[in-house]
Amino acid sequence: MQLFDVAIVGGGPAGSSCGAFCAMAGLQSLVIDREKFPREKVCGDCLNPSCWPVLERLELADRVQDLPHSKLCSVAFIAIDGREVIVDLPSGANCEISVKRSLFDDLLLRRARELGANVHEQTTVTGLSRNDHWNIETASGEFFQARILIGADGRNSTVAHLCNLLPRPARERVALQAHIPLPRDFGNRIVLQFLREGYSGQASVNETQLNLCLVGTPPTISKLRRWAERQFQLPADQGWRTITPLTRSPIPSAHENLFFVGDAARVVEPFTGEGIYYALRSGELAANAIAKILRDDDRNSALREFGRAYAQMYRGRLWINRLAREAVLRPQLGSLFVHAARIRPEIIKSLTAKIVEKL
Ligand SMILES: Cc1cc2nc3c(=O)[nH]c(=O)nc-3n(C[C@H](O)[C@H](O)[C@H](O)COP(=O)(O)OP(=O)(O)OC[C@H]3O[C@@H](n4cnc5c(N)ncnc54)[C@H](O)[C@@H]3O)c2cc1C
Repeated sequence: MQLFDVAIVGGGPAGSSCGAFCAMAGLQSLVIDREKFPREKVCGDCLNPSCWPVLERLELADRVQDLPHSKLCSVAFIAIDGREVIVDLPSGANCEISVKRSLFDDLLLRRARELGANVHEQTTVTGLSRNDHWNIETASGEFFQARILIGADGRNSTVAHLCNLLPRPARERVALQAHIPLPRDFGNRIVLQFLREGYSGQASVNETQLNLCLVGTPPTISKLRRWAERQFQLPADQGWRTITPLTRSPIPSAHENLFFVGDAARVVEPFTGEGIYYALRSGELAANAIAKILRDDDRNSALREFGRAYAQMYRGRLWINRLAREAVLRPQLGSLFVHAARIRPEIIKSLTAKIVEKL
């Protein structure tokens, strides 16, 4: 049986990025995902401009620009009483765009495969054991071995669960998401709308479709759904994708021959639309560290360098994400913030600029 240098569980942005960069570094890489791609995913579909440099290093930026997408010009923050404040987004070639995850994730996974990663779709990891290397069991009975294991399997990470590292999820909130017909005159913008029961995120993803997300608690989510049905004239049998939890404690990213990347390591509040960037970049950082470790470079210095770069990725950004979480957990407070921003728009402008600045 082939012993892979690295096995990556999860082929979302974190796993595909990690698999692609590992393959680029000449490592025997395996990416395993339980889904058959292309597949949709609960997400607002917005790509923060910080993603572009990583996509350029993957030689994918032009191919992402070729996918059907919307170039997003502004964000409208709407308070519970309907008052709103609009903030322009940076324009130019590498601006914030929205693109369906089915298309984006499929492109990334194909890139990993093109670069030489061994990709197994429709393969669910169910068991792990460890001797000199990792033994990976799957639901289909296929069995894999690898020297280093990566958990890139999202917020409910099976790898973390099997390694007894998954924090107890705070099942306080749930999200619903659907692609619906684009309302006339919606424009190329993001709408972040506080509602009494939670919040809604909306963004056009192409010329005909709107990504609609609703975030609430289990008791309030059906009210939010009814609000969306009225607001967007949706049929009662509208299909919704769902995900929970929206919040959970982070897991340290680096362990002995085991890394966690993307949502598996840290789940951020979706309101600021940065999760895909953290997924792509943490996948790249883990690949760089693994390439050094397997080349017999000094393991400790590779891990130290990884730890520094990983912390740097979040530096100066995480506090805004926490602030956003406070605002969305108390929509009345979020609404007050929108009212204040109508008087002093520079506050919300500078916070938005911090989130969408290209790194
Ligand atoms: C409502 C909402 C809106 C959001 N909006 C945005 C946004 O607009 N912009 C943004 O940047 N971020 C947004 N995010 C966050 C973003 O979706 C995530 O941060 C991102 O998907 C993380 O990527 P990932 O690769 O770590 O995990 P995922 O995308 O979750 O990928 C994990 C993969 O692992 C696979 N997997 C899981 N378990 C197993 C197993 N046992 N065996 C094999 N495979 C497995 C899954 O099939 C999946 O393909 C949003 C999140 C939510 C909840």
